[in-house]
Amino acid sequence: MESIFVRSISNMKITKHIENSDKTLFSFEIIPPLKGKGIESLYEGIDPLMDFNPPFINVTYHREEYSYKDMGGGLLKKISIRKRPGTVGICAALMHKYKVDAVPHLICGGFNVEETENALIDLQFLGVDNVLALRGDPIKTEASFHPEKGGHRYAVELIEQINNLNNGNYLDGLNQNTPTDFCIGAAGYPEKHFEAMNLTSDLKHLKEKVDAGAEFIVTQLFFDNQKYFDFVEKCRNIGINVPIIPGLKPITNMRHISFLPKFFNVDLPIELSNELDKCTTNEQVKQVGIEWGIQQAQELVKNNVPVLHFYTMGRGEAVKAIASEVF
Ligand code: FAD
Repeated sequence: MESIFVRSISNMKITKHIENSDKTLFSFEIIPPLKGKGIESLYEGIDPLMDFNPPFINVTYHREEYSYKDMGGGLLKKISIRKRPGTVGICAALMHKYKVDAVPHLICGGFNVEETENALIDLQFLGVDNVLALRGDPIKTEASFHPEKGGHRYAVELIEQINNLNNGNYLDGLNQNTPTDFCIGAAGYPEKHFEAMNLTSDLKHLKEKVDAGAEFIVTQLFFDNQKYFDFVEKCRNIGINVPIIPGLKPITNMRHISFLPKFFNVDLPIELSNELDKCTTNEQVKQVGIEWGIQQAQELVKNNVPVLHFYTMGRGEAVKAIASEVF
């Protein structure tokens, strides 16, 4: 009986999942395992989180990285490697195993428009209903983002391409094609994207993404709920009316204390940093991170956010500890 129920809630647009629910939903994002690691370790992280009935799970996309191999005699060879391939395969595996909607992240970086179209056709055939459309970060060895030749520079262009497919307009220019029906998501940054001149210009570009066809927004992680509430208010004031899903990531070790603010361009509130300053072990940091996460999550639920979306970064124990107190 239960499996029939689970089946009936899958294969739906995120906007529908939200519309159909009268309470805050739980969801999370996973990252594909390192090449050669197999999918079992991923399942071990996901299994305990399935108790909270996520209607969808996001799967990140990781483009190639470059390194230089010393060939001797002063020669260096540039080598390209994708450390975490498998996004589309993992989506199919999750849909099959857990009967949830899988939401692949699609990026502009590394793809030309034909490759993007082909990837979208594969996703349509797999029965994927939702995609999160992103620009992607600059390659680690490069200072700024460079679009692929014949590819997109900004996420809004990718959203336009997906929206064109949703209207049956493929790149071949013929219009007797079967339209796709993707529900498109975009990224939003309560503390502004690190490259944006200011929050106002970042919000203007976010509005362009919504006008181009994005039907929901998932935010960058944040630790100060007030920043999320202010962001939502600013979005509503400029006519962004789609659901804005807050992204949460518990701090779980000493390294996170400096890594998360730097990598994600976010601040830690003083009350949180004061507590973290007292910690001397990873275990203590994790405890503080979980307690902070519970408070954050409870307040967000009280304010009727549509979904609490957790970044697991491959480890789910802290997320489970928070979700157990909230769902
Ligand atoms: P855009 O919306 O294109 O914005 C990038 C910058 O350009 C912003 O500063 C914006 O203000 C500016 N801008 C936008 N449009 C214009 C314009 N027309 N003219 C001038 N400036 C403009 N990265 C991955 O590689 N893989 C992932 O799986 C992944 N998942 C993510 C999930 C979430 C929820 C979030 C928040 C981020 C994720 N990222 C991922 C990171 C993301 O790719 C980076 O933050 C990237 O630098 C920006 O992506 P974007 O889609 O927000 O870009």
